[in-house]
Amino acid sequence: MNKLLNKEPPFFADNLALDLVNTVVYTNGERFDFLQSDIDAIQWMRLAKLIPADYSLTPALGAESGLLHYLKKLRTFISEQLDTLKNGQKPDVKHINQLLSEYPLFHYLEVSAEGEIHLVEQYIAKELKSLFYPVVLATAQLMTRIDIHLFRQCEHEDCILWFEDKTKAHKRRWCSMATCGNKHKVTQFRKRNATTL
Ligand SMILES: [Zn+2]
Repeated sequence: MNKLLNKEPPFFADNLALDLVNTVVYTNGERFDFLQSDIDAIQWMRLAKLIPADYSLTPALGAESGLLHYLKKLRTFISEQLDTLKNGQKPDVKHINQLLSEYPLFHYLEVSAEGEIHLVEQYIAKELKSLFYPVVLATAQLMTRIDIHLFRQCEHEDCILWFEDKTKAHKRRWCSMATCGNKHKVTQFRKRNATTL
């Protein structure tokens, strides 16, 4: 049995659109998809904080509104745009504009307990899939970036996970220091020891 079956999808891309792409992983040379059912889709949305932990979104409701299908289509679109941008080509602006147009926004003023006034942006949730608005927005923002080189894949040879390098020096190399970063350190240590023997 695949070891990943009991694990949760990774969330260390520092970018919600890339976190969605990272629901497909390679482990020991095998592809594993964290989005296989409506329960998986709901679980991912909870972890992504698109729905509150106690929100009663049932798998049946998820299936009815095609959440899994929509999420996977969005994932494919983001992957394609990443490839396009990495190749220096123009992204599919028409399609993202169509997705963005499905989420009308409105604004209102909110007064905090301290009396401070904030302008709040809210989207009109017409359908369940509007819960994905933050992912769609993150995708649109990604497509406007000229520093696309900061969107990279982990350098570990067995890893395909993406991240946005938000470090000051822009030298992030690993999806996670705890996994791939450490594996690299161990390999380097072994190599060094082997040559000194
Ligand atoms: Zn990695």
